[in-house]
Amino acid sequence: MILVMGGAGYIGSHTVRHLLDNGYDVVVADNLMYGHKEAVDERAKFVHADLLDTLSLDNLFKNNKIEAVIHFAAFAYVGESVNEPEKYYYNNVVGTVNLLRAMLAHGVKKIVFSSTCATYGEPKYTPIDEKHNQAPINPYGRTKLMIEQIFADYERAYGLEHIALRYFNAAGCSADGRIGESHTPETHLIPLVLKAISGERKDIKVFGTDYDTPDGTCIRDYIHVEDLALAHRLAVEKLGNYNGCINLGTGIGTSVKEIITAAEEVSGKKCPVEYAPRRVGDPARLFADNRKAKEVLGWEPKYLNIKDIIQTAWNWELKRRY
Ligand code: UDP
Repeated sequence: MILVMGGAGYIGSHTVRHLLDNGYDVVVADNLMYGHKEAVDERAKFVHADLLDTLSLDNLFKNNKIEAVIHFAAFAYVGESVNEPEKYYYNNVVGTVNLLRAMLAHGVKKIVFSSTCATYGEPKYTPIDEKHNQAPINPYGRTKLMIEQIFADYERAYGLEHIALRYFNAAGCSADGRIGESHTPETHLIPLVLKAISGERKDIKVFGTDYDTPDGTCIRDYIHVEDLALAHRLAVEKLGNYNGCINLGTGIGTSVKEIITAAEEVSGKKCPVEYAPRRVGDPARLFADNRKAKEVLGWEPKYLNIKDIIQTAWNWELKRRY
Protein backbone atom coordinates (compact mmCIF):
# COMPACT_ATOMS: atom_id res chain seq x y z
CA MET A 1 0.00 0.00 0.00
CA ILE A 2 1.18 3.54 -0.82
CA LEU A 3 0.61 6.35 1.67
CA VAL A 4 -0.07 9.67 -0.04
CA MET A 5 0.43 12.48 2.47
CA GLY A 6 -1.45 15.53 1.25
CA GLY A 7 -3.43 13.40 -1.20
CA ALA A 8 -6.45 15.76 -1.10
CA GLY A 9 -4.47 18.60 -2.67
CA TYR A 10 -4.04 19.54 -6.32
CA ILE A 11 -1.11 17.37 -7.41
CA GLY A 12 -1.71 14.77 -4.71
CA SER A 13 -5.30 14.04 -5.77
CA HIS A 14 -4.28 13.54 -9.41
CA THR A 15 -1.47 11.22 -8.32
CA VAL A 16 -3.87 9.20 -6.14
CA ARG A 17 -6.17 8.58 -9.09
CA HIS A 18 -3.26 7.62 -11.32
CA LEU A 19 -1.97 5.13 -8.73
CA LEU A 20 -5.42 3.57 -8.33
CA ASP A 21 -5.85 3.32 -12.11
CA ASN A 22 -2.57 1.41 -12.19
CA GLY A 23 -3.55 -1.15 -9.59
CA TYR A 24 -2.04 0.30 -6.42
CA ASP A 25 -3.75 0.29 -3.01
CA VAL A 26 -3.70 3.82 -1.66
CA VAL A 27 -4.23 5.40 1.73
CA VAL A 28 -4.61 9.17 1.60
CA ALA A 29 -3.76 11.24 4.67
CA ASP A 30 -4.58 14.94 4.74
CA ASN A 31 -5.44 17.53 7.37
CA LEU A 32 -7.86 19.15 4.87
CA MET A 33 -6.54 22.60 5.72
CA TYR A 34 -5.99 23.29 2.02
CA GLY A 35 -7.04 19.96 0.54
CA HIS A 36 -10.56 18.98 -0.58
CA LYS A 37 -12.25 15.80 0.58
CA GLU A 38 -14.20 15.74 -2.73
CA ALA A 39 -10.89 15.46 -4.59
CA VAL A 40 -10.05 12.13 -2.95
CA ASP A 41 -10.99 9.16 -5.11
CA GLU A 42 -13.56 6.86 -3.48
CA ARG A 43 -11.35 3.83 -4.14
CA ALA A 44 -8.70 5.20 -1.74
CA LYS A 45 -8.86 4.89 2.03
CA PHE A 46 -8.95 8.34 3.64
CA VAL A 47 -7.45 9.21 7.04
CA HIS A 48 -7.58 12.64 8.63
CA ALA A 49 -4.00 13.18 9.82
CA ASP A 50 -1.59 16.03 10.37
CA LEU A 51 2.21 16.08 10.09
CA LEU A 52 2.45 17.92 13.40
CA ASP A 53 0.37 15.31 15.24
CA THR A 54 2.87 12.53 15.83
CA LEU A 55 0.23 10.22 17.30
CA SER A 56 -1.89 10.40 14.14
CA LEU A 57 1.22 9.66 12.06
CA ASP A 58 2.14 6.68 14.22
CA ASN A 59 -1.40 5.31 13.94
CA LEU A 60 -1.28 5.63 10.16
CA PHE A 61 1.68 3.27 9.98
CA LYS A 62 0.30 0.98 12.70
CA ASN A 63 -3.06 0.56 10.98
CA ASN A 64 -1.96 0.25 7.33
CA LYS A 65 0.56 -1.96 5.56
CA ILE A 66 2.51 0.91 4.02
CA GLU A 67 5.40 0.09 1.70
CA ALA A 68 6.19 3.57 0.37
CA VAL A 69 5.19 7.19 0.99
CA ILE A 70 4.54 9.99 -1.48
CA HIS A 71 4.74 13.24 0.44
CA PHE A 72 2.90 16.30 -0.91
CA ALA A 73 1.76 17.84 2.37
CA ALA A 74 3.21 21.34 2.65
CA PHE A 75 2.37 25.02 2.79
CA ALA A 76 3.21 26.47 -0.60
CA TYR A 77 2.55 30.22 -0.74
CA VAL A 78 5.85 31.96 -1.44
CA GLY A 79 4.70 35.42 -0.27
CA GLU A 80 3.21 34.06 2.94
CA SER A 81 6.45 32.19 3.64
CA VAL A 82 8.31 35.52 3.65
CA ASN A 83 5.87 37.07 6.16
CA GLU A 84 5.35 33.94 8.28
CA PRO A 85 8.52 31.84 8.01
CA GLU A 86 7.83 30.07 11.29
CA LYS A 87 4.65 28.57 9.85
CA TYR A 88 6.67 27.20 6.92
CA TYR A 89 9.69 25.88 8.80
CA TYR A 90 7.45 24.27 11.42
CA ASN A 91 4.94 22.63 9.09
CA ASN A 92 7.16 21.79 6.13
CA VAL A 93 10.46 20.93 7.82
CA VAL A 94 9.44 19.75 11.31
CA GLY A 95 6.41 18.02 9.79
CA THR A 96 8.61 16.08 7.36
CA VAL A 97 11.02 15.12 10.14
CA ASN A 98 7.99 13.79 12.06
CA LEU A 99 6.89 11.82 9.02
CA LEU A 100 10.37 10.33 8.54
CA ARG A 101 10.46 9.44 12.23
CA ALA A 102 7.18 7.54 11.99
CA MET A 103 8.31 5.84 8.78
CA LEU A 104 11.60 4.64 10.24
CA ALA A 105 9.93 3.51 13.48
CA HIS A 106 7.76 1.22 11.35
CA GLY A 107 10.52 0.07 9.00
CA VAL A 108 9.32 2.09 5.98
CA LYS A 109 12.29 3.44 4.04
CA LYS A 110 10.84 4.60 0.73
CA ILE A 111 9.75 8.17 0.03
CA VAL A 112 8.97 10.28 -3.03
CA PHE A 113 8.81 13.98 -2.24
CA SER A 114 7.35 17.16 -3.79
CA SER A 115 10.23 19.51 -4.27
CA THR A 116 10.37 22.54 -6.51
CA CYS A 117 12.40 24.51 -9.00
CA ALA A 118 12.20 27.28 -6.37
CA THR A 119 15.15 25.51 -4.71
CA TYR A 120 17.36 26.86 -7.53
CA GLY A 121 16.58 30.52 -6.82
CA GLU A 122 17.58 33.06 -9.46
CA PRO A 123 18.75 30.93 -12.42
CA LYS A 124 22.33 31.28 -13.62
CA TYR A 125 21.44 29.56 -16.91
CA THR A 126 18.50 27.91 -18.69
CA PRO A 127 17.37 25.26 -19.24
CA ILE A 128 18.00 24.43 -15.58
CA ASP A 129 19.46 20.99 -14.92
CA GLU A 130 19.74 19.26 -11.55
CA LYS A 131 23.40 20.29 -11.18
CA HIS A 132 22.40 23.96 -11.14
CA ASN A 133 23.44 25.70 -7.94
CA GLN A 134 20.67 25.69 -5.30
CA ALA A 135 20.19 29.08 -3.63
CA PRO A 136 16.48 29.59 -2.90
CA ILE A 137 15.42 33.19 -2.39
CA ASN A 138 12.47 32.68 -0.02
CA PRO A 139 11.64 30.57 3.05
CA TYR A 140 9.31 28.29 1.06
CA GLY A 141 12.14 27.29 -1.30
CA ARG A 142 14.50 26.91 1.65
CA THR A 143 12.14 24.48 3.42
CA LYS A 144 12.15 22.27 0.33
CA LEU A 145 15.94 22.41 -0.03
CA MET A 146 16.41 21.58 3.66
CA ILE A 147 14.24 18.50 3.25
CA GLU A 148 16.27 17.35 0.24
CA GLN A 149 19.39 17.68 2.42
CA ILE A 150 17.76 15.80 5.30
CA PHE A 151 17.02 12.93 2.90
CA ALA A 152 20.70 12.64 1.94
CA ASP A 153 21.70 12.48 5.63
CA TYR A 154 19.02 9.88 6.38
CA GLU A 155 20.15 7.83 3.39
CA ARG A 156 23.70 7.65 4.79
CA ALA A 157 22.63 6.96 8.37
CA TYR A 158 19.40 4.94 8.03
CA GLY A 159 19.31 3.67 4.46
CA LEU A 160 16.42 5.95 3.40
CA GLU A 161 15.43 5.46 -0.24
CA HIS A 162 14.34 8.84 -1.62
CA ILE A 163 13.49 10.68 -4.80
CA ALA A 164 12.69 14.42 -4.67
CA LEU A 165 10.82 15.66 -7.73
CA ARG A 166 11.50 19.30 -8.50
CA TYR A 167 8.40 20.58 -10.26
CA PHE A 168 8.36 23.57 -12.52
CA ASN A 169 4.84 25.14 -12.92
CA ALA A 170 2.13 22.54 -12.33
CA ALA A 171 -0.87 23.26 -14.56
CA GLY A 172 -4.07 21.79 -16.00
CA CYS A 173 -6.61 19.37 -14.60
CA SER A 174 -7.66 15.75 -15.11
CA ALA A 175 -8.61 15.09 -18.75
CA ASP A 176 -12.11 13.87 -17.72
CA GLY A 177 -12.75 17.07 -15.71
CA ARG A 178 -13.50 15.18 -12.48
CA ILE A 179 -10.76 16.73 -10.38
CA GLY A 180 -8.86 19.97 -10.77
CA GLU A 181 -7.08 22.90 -9.24
CA SER A 182 -8.72 24.84 -6.43
CA HIS A 183 -6.67 27.04 -4.14
CA THR A 184 -7.94 29.62 -1.67
CA PRO A 185 -6.54 32.13 -2.24
CA GLU A 186 -5.68 31.40 -5.88
CA THR A 187 -2.35 32.90 -6.92
CA HIS A 188 -1.42 30.88 -10.01
CA LEU A 189 -1.46 32.38 -13.45
CA ILE A 190 -3.57 29.94 -15.50
CA PRO A 191 -6.56 29.66 -13.10
CA LEU A 192 -6.48 33.43 -12.60
CA VAL A 193 -6.50 34.07 -16.36
CA LEU A 194 -9.44 31.66 -16.77
CA LYS A 195 -11.35 33.38 -13.94
CA ALA A 196 -10.76 36.74 -15.63
CA ILE A 197 -12.14 35.26 -18.87
CA SER A 198 -15.19 33.74 -17.16
CA GLY A 199 -15.94 36.99 -15.33
CA GLU A 200 -15.29 35.59 -11.87
CA ARG A 201 -12.48 38.15 -11.55
CA LYS A 202 -12.30 41.66 -12.98
CA ASP A 203 -9.04 41.09 -14.86
CA ILE A 204 -5.62 39.48 -14.80
CA LYS A 205 -2.74 41.60 -13.62
CA VAL A 206 0.37 40.88 -15.67
CA PHE A 207 3.31 41.26 -13.30
CA GLY A 208 5.93 43.05 -15.36
CA THR A 209 6.23 43.76 -19.08
CA ASP A 210 9.85 44.93 -19.09
CA TYR A 211 11.67 41.64 -18.62
CA ASP A 212 14.50 40.67 -20.93
CA THR A 213 12.31 38.21 -22.87
CA PRO A 214 10.91 38.42 -26.44
CA ASP A 215 7.56 39.94 -25.35
CA GLY A 216 8.76 41.44 -22.05
CA THR A 217 6.77 39.06 -19.81
CA CYS A 218 8.09 36.21 -17.64
CA ILE A 219 8.70 32.79 -19.12
CA ARG A 220 7.79 29.62 -17.20
CA ASP A 221 7.64 25.89 -17.89
CA TYR A 222 4.04 24.66 -17.47
CA ILE A 223 3.84 20.94 -16.81
CA HIS A 224 0.50 19.11 -16.85
CA VAL A 225 -0.62 17.70 -13.52
CA GLU A 226 -1.29 14.25 -15.06
CA ASP A 227 2.28 14.15 -16.37
CA LEU A 228 3.40 14.94 -12.81
CA ALA A 229 1.18 12.13 -11.50
CA LEU A 230 2.77 9.67 -13.92
CA ALA A 231 6.26 10.72 -12.79
CA HIS A 232 5.34 10.05 -9.15
CA ARG A 233 4.31 6.48 -9.94
CA LEU A 234 7.47 5.90 -11.96
CA ALA A 235 9.52 7.36 -9.09
CA VAL A 236 7.87 5.02 -6.56
CA GLU A 237 8.73 2.11 -8.83
CA LYS A 238 12.34 3.33 -9.07
CA LEU A 239 12.91 3.67 -5.30
CA GLY A 240 15.75 1.44 -4.15
CA ASN A 241 17.54 1.75 -7.48
CA TYR A 242 18.01 5.51 -7.47
CA ASN A 243 18.33 8.18 -4.75
CA GLY A 244 18.30 11.88 -5.54
CA CYS A 245 16.54 14.79 -7.20
CA ILE A 246 14.85 14.97 -10.58
CA ASN A 247 13.38 17.96 -12.46
CA LEU A 248 9.86 17.71 -13.84
CA GLY A 249 9.07 20.14 -16.62
CA THR A 250 8.33 20.03 -20.32
CA GLY A 251 11.53 21.89 -21.19
CA ILE A 252 9.37 24.42 -23.07
CA GLY A 253 9.14 28.04 -21.96
CA THR A 254 5.87 29.97 -22.31
CA SER A 255 5.46 33.67 -21.53
CA VAL A 256 2.62 35.25 -19.54
CA LYS A 257 1.33 36.92 -22.71
CA GLU A 258 1.42 33.60 -24.57
CA ILE A 259 -0.63 32.01 -21.78
CA ILE A 260 -3.26 34.75 -22.07
CA THR A 261 -3.45 34.40 -25.87
CA ALA A 262 -3.70 30.60 -25.63
CA ALA A 263 -6.46 30.89 -22.99
CA GLU A 264 -8.39 33.30 -25.25
CA GLU A 265 -8.14 30.84 -28.13
CA VAL A 266 -9.23 27.88 -26.00
CA SER A 267 -12.21 29.70 -24.47
CA GLY A 268 -13.11 31.79 -27.51
CA LYS A 269 -13.37 34.83 -25.22
CA LYS A 270 -11.32 37.92 -24.52
CA CYS A 271 -9.29 38.17 -21.32
CA PRO A 272 -9.36 41.56 -19.57
CA VAL A 273 -5.73 42.44 -18.82
CA GLU A 274 -4.12 45.05 -16.62
CA TYR A 275 -0.39 45.61 -16.89
CA ALA A 276 1.16 45.88 -13.44
CA PRO A 277 4.64 46.25 -11.96
CA ARG A 278 6.95 43.27 -11.49
CA ARG A 279 6.30 40.93 -8.56
CA VAL A 280 9.27 40.75 -6.18
CA GLY A 281 11.38 37.61 -6.60
CA ASP A 282 10.16 36.58 -10.09
CA PRO A 283 13.05 35.51 -12.36
CA ALA A 284 12.63 36.42 -16.05
CA ARG A 285 12.79 32.83 -17.27
CA LEU A 286 12.60 29.39 -15.71
CA PHE A 287 12.44 26.20 -17.69
CA ALA A 288 13.70 22.71 -17.14
CA ASP A 289 16.29 20.46 -18.57
CA ASN A 290 14.18 17.30 -18.19
CA ARG A 291 16.64 14.75 -19.57
CA LYS A 292 17.24 13.14 -16.18
CA ALA A 293 13.54 12.36 -15.68
CA LYS A 294 13.51 10.72 -19.10
CA GLU A 295 16.69 8.75 -18.48
CA VAL A 296 16.19 7.71 -14.85
CA LEU A 297 12.41 7.28 -14.75
CA GLY A 298 11.66 6.55 -18.41
CA TRP A 299 9.17 9.44 -18.15
CA GLU A 300 7.81 11.27 -21.16
CA PRO A 301 5.37 14.18 -20.71
CA LYS A 302 2.25 13.79 -22.86
CA TYR A 303 1.14 17.42 -22.80
CA LEU A 304 3.60 19.54 -24.76
CA ASN A 305 1.14 22.01 -26.28
CA ILE A 306 0.12 24.79 -23.88
CA LYS A 307 -3.35 25.02 -25.45
CA ASP A 308 -4.00 21.35 -24.62
CA ILE A 309 -2.96 22.02 -21.02
CA ILE A 310 -5.17 25.12 -20.77
CA GLN A 311 -8.09 23.24 -22.39
CA THR A 312 -8.14 20.79 -19.45
CA ALA A 313 -8.05 23.69 -16.99
CA TRP A 314 -10.88 25.45 -18.86
CA ASN A 315 -13.03 22.28 -18.82
CA TRP A 316 -12.58 22.19 -15.04
CA GLU A 317 -13.26 25.90 -14.62
CA LEU A 318 -16.61 25.45 -16.42
CA LYS A 319 -17.80 22.49 -14.30
CA ARG A 320 -15.84 22.61 -11.09
CA ARG A 321 -17.11 20.64 -8.09
CA TYR A 322 -15.02 22.26 -5.34
N1 UDP B 1 1.72 36.06 -12.91
C1 UDP B 1 1.10 37.22 -13.35
N2 UDP B 1 -0.08 37.58 -12.76
C2 UDP B 1 -0.66 36.84 -11.77
C3 UDP B 1 -0.04 35.65 -11.34
C4 UDP B 1 1.16 35.29 -11.93
O1 UDP B 1 1.61 37.91 -14.23
O2 UDP B 1 -1.72 37.24 -11.27
C5 UDP B 1 2.98 35.65 -13.54
C6 UDP B 1 4.14 35.54 -12.56
O3 UDP B 1 4.83 36.77 -12.48
C7 UDP B 1 4.99 34.44 -13.19
C8 UDP B 1 3.98 33.56 -13.92
O4 UDP B 1 2.81 34.36 -14.06
O5 UDP B 1 5.85 34.99 -14.14
C9 UDP B 1 3.62 32.30 -13.15
O6 UDP B 1 3.27 32.65 -11.84
P1 UDP B 1 2.62 31.62 -10.82
O7 UDP B 1 2.33 32.38 -9.56
O8 UDP B 1 1.51 30.90 -11.48
O9 UDP B 1 3.79 30.55 -10.57
P2 UDP B 1 5.31 30.74 -10.09
O10 UDP B 1 6.14 30.80 -11.36
O11 UDP B 1 5.38 31.99 -9.29
O12 UDP B 1 5.57 29.51 -9.30
